[in-house]
Amino acid sequence: MMALRFYNTMSRRLEEFEPIEPGHVRMYTCGPTVYGPAHIGNFRAYIFEDILRRYLKYKGYRVTQVMNLTDIDDKTIRDSQEAGITLQEHTRKFIEMFFHDLDRLNIERAEYYPAATEHIPEMVDFIQKLIERGNAYGSGGSVYYKISTFPRYGALSHMDMTGLKAGARVDSDEYEKESVSDFAVWKGWSERDGNVFWNTPLGKGRPGWHIECSAMSMKYLGEQFDIHTGGVDNIFPHHENEIAQSEGVTGKKFVNYWLHNAHLIVESKKMSKSEGNFYTVGALVEMGHNPIAIRYLLMATHYRQQLNFTSEALEASKKAITRLRDFRTNVEDARPGPDSDTAKWTVARAVEGFEAALDDDLNMSQALAAAFDFVREVNAVVAEQGLSEADKKAVLNALRRFDSVLGVVYVKEAGIDQRIDTLIRERNEAKKARDFKTADKIRSDLLDEGIILEDTPVGTKWKRKV
Ligand code: AMP
Ligand code: ZN
Repeated sequence: MMALRFYNTMSRRLEEFEPIEPGHVRMYTCGPTVYGPAHIGNFRAYIFEDILRRYLKYKGYRVTQVMNLTDIDDKTIRDSQEAGITLQEHTRKFIEMFFHDLDRLNIERAEYYPAATEHIPEMVDFIQKLIERGNAYGSGGSVYYKISTFPRYGALSHMDMTGLKAGARVDSDEYEKESVSDFAVWKGWSERDGNVFWNTPLGKGRPGWHIECSAMSMKYLGEQFDIHTGGVDNIFPHHENEIAQSEGVTGKKFVNYWLHNAHLIVESKKMSKSEGNFYTVGALVEMGHNPIAIRYLLMATHYRQQLNFTSEALEASKKAITRLRDFRTNVEDARPGPDSDTAKWTVARAVEGFEAALDDDLNMSQALAAAFDFVREVNAVVAEQGLSEADKKAVLNALRRFDSVLGVVYVKEAGIDQRIDTLIRERNEAKKARDFKTADKIRSDLLDEGIILEDTPVGTKWKRKV
C-alpha cells in the first residue's frame, strides 16, 4: 500500500507523512479574522483543512486540530471603531456567523477554537521569553522581533535575505515581501487603538497578529507538532514570522509539514474582502444555492491548484452531488439479485483508487473520478440484475466510507428528517381520507423548501432538490 504523502512548502517536495506521536496527528490551522463575514475564498482554506482532517481520520489517526479566531488585529479594531461599537460586539457577530457557515458546509469541528483576546497573558509571556533570549527588543512602547537573530528567516517562503536593511521596522500586521524587516510582536498603545488595550508588564498596548498563533499553538499542541496549514497568502509574512517566534523561544523545529492551499479566484483575481469581489455562503444560499454544492465546488479541485469561481461550476457541483445521492437511493432500493463478481471487483477497485488518489497529496479530483467510476459501474449492475444483500452492503459501506471524507451524501440536516417524516405521515392519512387538497398542499409546501416526495411501492420517500 502506498503511504500518505504531502507536499511540504518548506522543502518544496512530496514527503511521506509520519506524525511525531504514533497514531495521533496534531495540526494547527490559521482561522478567520473576524472583522466581517468569511467569504467562500476563506472557506476554500477551511474545506481543504476539513478534507485533510477527515482523511487522516479515515486512515485511522486520532486528530487534534486547533483553529484560532483572530478577534484582534489592525482590521478588527479599525472596523469596530468605524461601526461605533466595542471590539467584542463587533467580532462576536462574525464568530457566530462563521460557526453557522461551518455547519452549513458540513465542516467538522476542530478540537479547539482559541480566541486571541482570551490568550493575552500567554502572548505576553511568550514575548518576554523572546526579549530574554535577545530575539526581540522594545522601541517606542512597542516590541519588535529582530529577524537578524534568526538565521533561518525566509526558509519557508524561500526568500533571498541578502541586501536586507538591518534594523528597519514594520508596524502593520500585513505587509509585502519588499518590506521584510523587524516586525511588531507587541504594539504600544496609540490613539488609533482607542479603548482597545491591555495593561501588561510590556506596557499598555496589544499583541501583533503573528504572535497569537505561536503562543496558542504552543499552549494547545506543544512546542513541536505535525501539520500547519493556511492559504498561500499566509506563507509570508505570517507563517515565516510564526516560525521565527516559536523556534526563537524553543530552539526546536516548530512544525514538520507545512501545507498551503491555492486561492479561489474570480476573473483572475484572488477573491478577497478588500477587492470586493467576494461571495459569502449566506448570499449564495439566498440566491437558492445548496451549501453542500458550495462545499463540493470548493473541494473538487486539488487544493494546490487555483480554482476559478463561476456559477456554471456551481451548477455542475449540484449535478455531481445529486448523482451521488441518487446512487445511494438507487442501491438502497435495488431489487434482489445474484452475487456479482463485477460488483465485488468494482468495490475493491474503487476503494483502492480513492485511497491512492488521496494518499497522493490529497488528489481530490482523482479520488472523485474513482468514486464516479464506481457509481457508473454499480448502477449498470443494478439495472441489469439487481444486487445481492451482501453486495448491497459492500457497496453502501464503500460509499459511506468515501463520504466520511467527502461529506456530501450522508449529510445530517438537524431536525429535518423527523419533521418531514411527520409530514409524510400526515399526507398519507389525508390521502386515505380522500382529502387530496391537504395531501397536495403538503407536497407542494415541501417542494417550496426544496424537498421532493416520491411515492414508491415501498412507501413515500423524500429527497432534497439540489
Ligand atoms: P483571513 O481571515 O484573511 O485571515 O483568511 C483566513 C484564511 O483564508 C487564510 O488561511 C487565508 O489564506 C485564506 N484565504 C483568504 N482568501 C482566500 C482565497 N481567495 N482563496 C483561498 N483561501 C483564501
Ligand atoms: Zn496563524
